Parts: sequence; C-alpha cells; structure tokens
Amino acid sequence: MKQVLVNPAMGYYINKDVFGTKGDFITSPEISQMFGELVGIWFVNEWMQIGSPSSIQVVELGPGRGTMADDMLRVFSKFPQMKESVTCHLVEVSPTLADIQQRKLTGSTGSGSISSDTISGPFGSNEPHYYKSCKSKYGPEVFWYRSLSDVPREKVSGFIAHEFFDALPIHKFQKTQHGWREVLVDFDLNKSSLSFVLSPTPTAATVAYLKMCETDERNHIEVSPEAGVVVQELADRIQSEGGFALIADYGHNGDKTDTFRGFKNHKLHDVLVEPGSADLTADVDFSYLTKMAGKNVKTFGPVTQNEFLHNMGIGVRLQMLLQNATLEARKDLISGYKMLTSPDQMGERFKFLAILQHRGQDYNPAGFTSLQ
Ligand code: SAH
Repeated sequence: MKQVLVNPAMGYYINKDVFGTKGDFITSPEISQMFGELVGIWFVNEWMQIGSPSSIQVVELGPGRGTMADDMLRVFSKFPQMKESVTCHLVEVSPTLADIQQRKLTGSTGSGSISSDTISGPFGSNEPHYYKSCKSKYGPEVFWYRSLSDVPREKVSGFIAHEFFDALPIHKFQKTQHGWREVLVDFDLNKSSLSFVLSPTPTAATVAYLKMCETDERNHIEVSPEAGVVVQELADRIQSEGGFALIADYGHNGDKTDTFRGFKNHKLHDVLVEPGSADLTADVDFSYLTKMAGKNVKTFGPVTQNEFLHNMGIGVRLQMLLQNATLEARKDLISGYKMLTSPDQMGERFKFLAILQHRGQDYNPAGFTSLQ
C-alpha cells in the first residue's frame, strides 16, 4: 500500500493531481469553502483558549491541493493578531502536489516554474528540515516537509489531518482455525496476476500488532502501525510543546472488518489490478488512534462530520454566503452543504477527533459540544 501510494518514482500521489471531478475522488475541502473556513475558526478558537501565543505553527498533514490550508489562512487573515502569530507547515511527500499547493497559497497562476527557496537535503542536524518555503498571499510564511518528524518542535503547534490517515498503509489479519494469520499479497505465476494469500504461520506483524486485539470478536482486523506512530508523535508534541490536533477522516470505532479498497474515476477499483493507477484507502480506526494517543493528552470524539460542522455554525455561514451569491453559486453552496452534512452522504461516515493538552475538567473544544 505504501509503495503503491507514495513510492518516490511511481507512487499514485507522486506525479499527478488526483482530486476533483476529473480525478479519482473528491474531498470535503474541495466541495465547499465552508469546510476549511470552519476548521480555520476552530483553530482560531483553540489558539485563543490557550492564551493566544504570539507564535504558533499550523501544521497540515497531507494537504492535497492546498485548498483547506488556503481557506484556513484566509480566515486567520481576518484576525490581525492570529495572522501575525502563524506560520504554515505542510507535510507532503508528493512534489507535484507541493507545487499545486504553492500555486494555491501564493495565488500564482502561470504554468511555469514558481520561485521558492528550495533546499534539497539530506539535512544536517542544525539545518532547517523543510524542502521548500514561500510567503503566502495572506502574509504568513509556508514551509514544506517530507515527514512530521522534520517539522520543528520548539514552538506550539496546531495540527490538522484531513483524509491523511486513511492513506497510511495497513496490515490485514484474518482469524482462522489455527489462530490469527496475516493477509499477504502474492504473485500468481499461472495467472500473471496479484492475489491475496494467508500466511501459513504467524508473521512478525501478527505477533507484534495483534496483542491488543486478543479478545477482539471480529474475524478480520486492519491495523495501521504507521498511523499509530504518527498519532503518538502528535500526542507527544502536544504534551511537551502545547497545542492541539484535529483529525478528520472516514472511519469507525474499532468495529469494522474488511475496509481496504481502491478508487479510480470515482468508482470502486480492485486494489490488486494495475496498482498505482488508483487510490488505495482503508477506514481509519479511531479507537486505535485514541488508544495510541495515550493518557498524557486528552482526546475528544470522534463526532460525526454533520455534528462537528453544525456545532461550528455551518448553518449561519451558509446563510451569510447565500446573501451575496449569484443563482449559480447559491446552487453550489446548497448542494455542497448537503453533501458535507447529510447522513447518507458525508455527514456520518466522516468523523472528527481532537487531541488537546490536559486542562480544566470541564473544557470541551468547540465543535465537540452538542448544541441540542
Ligand atoms: N487533505 C487533502 C488531501 C487528502 S489525500 C484533502 O482532503 O483534500 C492524501 C494526501 O496525503 C495527499 O496530499 C498525499 O500526497 C499525502 N500523503 C499520502 N501519504 C503520505 C505520507 N506517507 N506522508 C506525507 N503525505 C502523504
């Protein structure tokens, strides 16, 4: 899964823009500006709650086309003190997407090369670990990194990951008469094609990752150790440097089984056919992420996207935007609102999880308190 998605030469995300109606799938920030704006408001609110520190890193994992970062920076620019305090840090492995993000954030429209400070690495211990940087059209500086571990640690950070965790590789395990076995991918020489097989004996991954699932009643489990490592790092940074994280993705609470699938041209695609030509994804196990975040931080949720967006005021924002919109734009706004919030579309399958430092007993982050 990792090689198919992010192999530096041939990975699915590396050389092309895969989003939107012409691509393979569409994501919430691409559906409506309201999504990124409300996430931006959530950040402003949490920044104020921790005393409006004069320097804060906003770190996005897997920014896609940079649309959400752009909507968030636009929101921050309406709050002069926040605007002065923010630097933007994007964790992106794809050079093609990093260029698209840069064009979006600088407002550059040409197709030629765009100017930026580019650093090739490998980085010495005292050098900055970003691979490029620029100034956004809203003012704040933007930096790009290949991995979260490259993002500087000394400052308070607010983290956002939207549809990032579902792209991290999983291990699949199947319960058999002889105990748990890992599902592996084999090459069938007769048919010249890839196929799923069960390991004849427990693999190292089975021994290492299934300990916490010994009493699990499911007969098929997907585990993403890489997701666990990322969430542990987020929790560790939040505990020591302060800040907060918001993780939004489609997922479940440790009750789903076989969710690994491919998408091509907005349709399901067999994951073993023409690997690299389709997106691969697995539902995020929020109960696993919560467990891996540990007890040194506080987690909230997951709440559904419908609940989060309504608690954050999507209804009011929609009304405001409708007031000055053309007929065509009104149609788009309303259909975007429905798509983001309807239970039968993205409203229930997508969920939000927040990670915060321990604070007073009663503190609930915005969006996670039900307004009923
Ligand atoms: N957040 C965006 C894009 C989601 S697609 C949106 O919602 O529209 C996943 C994104 O994560 C892409 O930008 C992809 O290039 C990036 N990505 C995938 N695996 C990654 C990894 N291991 N490290 C860093 N970025 C990764």
